[in-house]
Amino acid sequence: MSTTVAPAQAARQQLSHFQGPLIGPEDGDYEQARAVYNAMIDRRPALIARAADAADVAAAIGFAREHGLTLAVRGGAHNGAGLGTVDDGVVIDLSLLKHIAVDPNARTVRVGGGCTWGEVDRATGEHGLATPSGIISTTGVGGLTLGGGLGYLTRRFGLTIDNLLEAELVLASGEQVRASAQEHPDLFWAIRGGGGNFGVVSSFLFRTHEVGTIVGGPSFWPVEDAAEVMSAYREFLPGAPRELSGFFAFHTVPPAPPFPEEIHLRQVCGIVWCYVGSEEHAREALAPLLESVPEPLMHGVQPMPHAMLQGMFDGLYPPGHQWYWRADFVSEIPDEAVQLHARFGSQPPSMQSTMHLYPIDGAAHDVAPSDTAWSYRDANWAAVFAGVDADPANADAIRRWSLDYQEALHPYSAGGAYVNMMMDEGEERVRASYRENYHRLAQVKRSYDPENVFRVNQNIRPAGA
Ligand SMILES: Cc1cc2nc3c(=O)[nH]c(=O)nc-3n(C[C@H](O)[C@H](O)[C@H](O)COP(=O)(O)OP(=O)(O)OC[C@H]3O[C@@H](n4cnc5c(N)ncnc54)[C@H](O)[C@@H]3O)c2cc1C
Repeated sequence: MSTTVAPAQAARQQLSHFQGPLIGPEDGDYEQARAVYNAMIDRRPALIARAADAADVAAAIGFAREHGLTLAVRGGAHNGAGLGTVDDGVVIDLSLLKHIAVDPNARTVRVGGGCTWGEVDRATGEHGLATPSGIISTTGVGGLTLGGGLGYLTRRFGLTIDNLLEAELVLASGEQVRASAQEHPDLFWAIRGGGGNFGVVSSFLFRTHEVGTIVGGPSFWPVEDAAEVMSAYREFLPGAPRELSGFFAFHTVPPAPPFPEEIHLRQVCGIVWCYVGSEEHAREALAPLLESVPEPLMHGVQPMPHAMLQGMFDGLYPPGHQWYWRADFVSEIPDEAVQLHARFGSQPPSMQSTMHLYPIDGAAHDVAPSDTAWSYRDANWAAVFAGVDADPANADAIRRWSLDYQEALHPYSAGGAYVNMMMDEGEERVRASYRENYHRLAQVKRSYDPENVFRVNQNIRPAGA
C-alpha cells in the first residue's frame, strides 16, 4: 500500500467526488456494513465503498488498484462462500443501486445492480409480469444472475441469464460499457454464467413474461416415504409440462403457520410446486404424480401472486444464520442415489438444514451448452446440500453433514456444480463447473480483466496468466 493513512481515511481524502458513504473500521456503522447473509463469514474489509452510481464504482475500482488492495463486489450479500466481501481489502457495496423501471409495453425491466429479487418481483408483479429468478426473495439480482439463476420459472422460461437482454458494466480499467448480443458480444456471452469475473454490473435489462397468479406451494410426505416419493418425482418431472416446476426437498416442518400444528417439527420430504397457469390445469398437471405416491401429510398448493411464492421461505431463512453449502449437477437419480438421499435427508443436523434438487430442464435445455458460459444445459437438476443453523456452536455439525451428504452422492453426479451454490472450493472445481467453456471464459477474462482485479469470486484466471 502506498499510503501511510488507513484506507478509509485515504479514500475520503482522495475520492472527493464519491457520492455514497465510505465506511472504515473506525466508523459506527462498520459492524452492520460488513455483515453478510451467511454469519459463518466474518471478514473485516479495510474500506466499504457504498457506490451511488457507476462513476462511484469506477472510482472505487481505481482506488483499490492504486493502493494494491484486494477488491470484492457485493450485490445482495447472499453468497454462501462470502464472495461479496474480503479481509483488509475494498468492498464495493452496490446496495444503493436500486433503480427499477418496468416497461410493460416492451415487456422488460431495467434493474440496478444492487437490487434484491423481492424488490424486482414486486415491481414487475404490479404489471402481471415476472422474470425467472430463484426461490428466496432476499437474494441479490447481481450474484444470482451472473452465476446463472435457477428457480420456479426455469422450466417455463429458462435460467435468469436466458432472459438477460443487456448489462451495463464498469470494467477493471474504469471504462463503462454495455454488453448485449450486439455490443461486446464476447463479454455478454461470458457474464451469462461466468459470475462477477468481468466487471461490476451497475444495471441489468431483463425480458419479462406474463406471470400473474401462479399455483404454488409445498406438498409434504413423511420422511419415511422419501425413497418412494423421490423415485416417483424423478420419473414424473422430466415428462411434465413446462408450465409445472417443482423442486424436491428434505425439510423439518417449521413450528409456525401456515403449517398445521400436528406436523410441526416433523421430518418430511417435499416438493415445492409452481404452476404457471390456471388452478384447473395445475390440478391436471399434478395428478399423475399425486396418484402414484402415498397421500401427502400436507398439500398446500394454491393460487397466489408469483411474488408471494418467491417470499414464502424468507421467514425460515433470515440473514445472520450459519450456512455451509455443497452442490452438484445431476443428470439422473439412480436407485442407489435415492437410497442415499433417503438416509442423509432424514438425519439433518438442524431444523433449517436441507437438500434441494432444482430442475434445470424444460426451457433451460433450449439453449445449447456453448451459447452462454453456463455449460451444464444437459443436466436435469442442480443439487444443493445446505447445512443451516442460527447457533454458531453447531457450525461444525452442519458443515460435516453437508460434506458427508455431498461426498456420498457425488459419484452419481454429472461432475461440476452450480457456481452460485458452492463454497470456495478451488480452481479445479470451477473448471469442472464450466467444462469446455472454461477456455473461452479465460480468453474473455484476459481481454477485459488481464490483471485479475475481479478475483474474489469463483475465479476464472486470465488465459496465459
Ligand atoms: C437463502 C438463499 C437462497 C438462494 N436461492 C437461490 C435460488 O433459488 N436460485 C439460485 O440460482 N441461487 C440461489 N441462491 C444462491 C445465490 O444465487 C448466490 O448466493 C448468489 O451469489 C447471491 O448473489 P448476491 O448478489 O446476493 O451475493 P453477493 O454475495 O453480494 O455476491 C455474490 C457474487 O456475485 C458478485 N456480484 C454480485 N453482484 C454483482 C454485480 N452487480 N456486478 C458484478 N458482480 C456482482 C460478487 O462479487 C460475488 O462474487 C440462494 C442463496 C441463498 C443464501
